[in-house]
Amino acid sequence: MKTGYVALVGRPNSGKSTLLNKILGQKVSIISDKPQTTRISIQGIKTTEKGQIIFIDNPGIHKPLHQLNRRMMHFVYSALETADLVCLLIDATLKYGHGDQFVIETLEKISTPVFLLINKVDIIKKKKILLIIDRYKDLFSFKEIIPISALTGINVDVLENRIYDFLPDADKLYSDDEISIQSQRFLLSEIIREKLLNHVREELPFVTAVYIDRIEDIRPDLQQENKKKIDPSRIKTQKKYIKARILVEKDSHRRIVIGRQGSLIKTIGTEARKEIESIMGTKVYLDLQVKVEKKWRDSADVLKLIEGQ
Ligand code: GDP
Ligand code: MG
Repeated sequence: MKTGYVALVGRPNSGKSTLLNKILGQKVSIISDKPQTTRISIQGIKTTEKGQIIFIDNPGIHKPLHQLNRRMMHFVYSALETADLVCLLIDATLKYGHGDQFVIETLEKISTPVFLLINKVDIIKKKKILLIIDRYKDLFSFKEIIPISALTGINVDVLENRIYDFLPDADKLYSDDEISIQSQRFLLSEIIREKLLNHVREELPFVTAVYIDRIEDIRPDLQQENKKKIDPSRIKTQKKYIKARILVEKDSHRRIVIGRQGSLIKTIGTEARKEIESIMGTKVYLDLQVKVEKKWRDSADVLKLIEGQ
């Protein structure tokens, strides 16, 4: 048996979450075309007859800006140091830039073996792939350079097989049916945040967070009674009541998220509810509230609350 940790690193939008979801065959990490959607390292677990790969999905390597980003950097470095293998994803459709240089410099500081995954090859020409390989092979001594498509699955099986060669001989750490050790609350909050990010403009993602206040069982017929609290002994038909808060930093942001006459928050709520219902296998009443919490990114209490879900 081979068991070990693989850190997925790369700039925002390189496709880390997409790759993780593809390998695990299930959604454990949110996907968005906006940067910095994943703030916290998420572990996904892939168990096969060969062993167990424990993936760490990182928030992306970039320079610290304020307290939240320093915390993110802490996650990135600790993941790199403890991992058995680092997989660096690059977006093949983008030009090499300062950000990429910074990532390479970061990798030079660690001793962990590194794979280069050239992602999104489903939408670029073969000739361009060869040019990218040429450029990167001289920048760093990668153990392996693999062109992949996290979206369509090109070479993802090749990658998986090669990963095992770099993992130590060890017994499994988790049972076969565990694919993620993140909490249900965290997954729910990430789903809501994903729906939100799909609808708001660029500046907002940096100032929003979602946390789950309550998850309770309710009886559908009592839903009309103004979400009255319910005595669990009276439950006949299972339905979940989920109360979630969206934190923003300014009243103007709150107005954006709510939308004209509440239209946007309603759309976000409906989309999130449908996905949560399919995951939980039960009807859900999703109660979304938008709260202004000034400077929540610098508040240790709020960060602890969100990360502790
Ligand atoms: P992350 O920030 O690194 O986790 O990136 P995501 O997994 O959230 O992906 C960012 C965007 O790139 C999303 O819109 C994905 O659908 C898209 N994407 C990821 N992998 C691929 C791929 O292999 N091919 C194409 N065409 N798009 C991809
Ligand atoms: Mg991501």
